Amino acid sequence: MEIKRRISGNIDSRSKKRLLEDALKIKLDDGLFSHDIDEKSEEYNMIKHLALSLNLYDRVIGTLFTQQEIEQAEILVFRGAWVTGYPQPEKPIEFSGNTYSNSCPECGIHDEPKAPFQMKEPNLGKHKIMQLNWIFDEIFVERNFYQSFFKDFGIGMREAMLYKKNEPVKTVLQLDIPKAEFALDMNGLEFSTCPVCKKIKYTPVEIGFFPAPPRTNFHILKTKEFFGSGHSAFNKILMSHEIMSELVKIKVAKYYNFVPAK
Ligand SMILES: [Zn+2]
Repeated sequence: MEIKRRISGNIDSRSKKRLLEDALKIKLDDGLFSHDIDEKSEEYNMIKHLALSLNLYDRVIGTLFTQQEIEQAEILVFRGAWVTGYPQPEKPIEFSGNTYSNSCPECGIHDEPKAPFQMKEPNLGKHKIMQLNWIFDEIFVERNFYQSFFKDFGIGMREAMLYKKNEPVKTVLQLDIPKAEFALDMNGLEFSTCPVCKKIKYTPVEIGFFPAPPRTNFHILKTKEFFGSGHSAFNKILMSHEIMSELVKIKVAKYYNFVPAK
């Protein structure tokens, strides 16, 4: 596992530049800079104290896992496969309010779906699975692929509907992903509290392994916990080792699409 950090700031003096170049072992230009670094590296060890005294930003941007760490996990978070931006609704908050019950206009936290998901007909190309870059916790699957793969795992589906038309989307089905009834141990993880509904959501940055669920006898679930920032709120999608390894085997997903829980 490699935790990636990003050091960034403004180089506004010659001495600052020299200190940074010595610590990072790279050449830097004057002005704004940003450099990604492995938390375990010697360079990071050199710069972490400097970052404070030089007024630099130092933050985690994500975690890279080894294939072995992914293979050994019983449950994994699905990071998403192919993502398409189109067709995005003009008013995401309104969309959320129309699609889910009790959707908070401030933080986006919501209850269960109350109406079919509406979208335009997607252009899947060669992809079998699709996600939308404005909604992170729904998975859309090419119809035949649903029948030959997800249905065998006992996973249900919903019809997505064409935007403002009373007919189903032709290419894909939406997976019906149940919500976990268990809570995860989120102790120590950063969260924000909504000023309107007072519910909490966790910072979506992945730092190390995802908290292991208290039970593993399922194939796919959404976490009860919400993640996100601003108006966006989503659940993480948990998948079994079996689904992960099958998706990787048939090249519908790659190892890096998964975060192991431990
Ligand atoms: Zn809220």
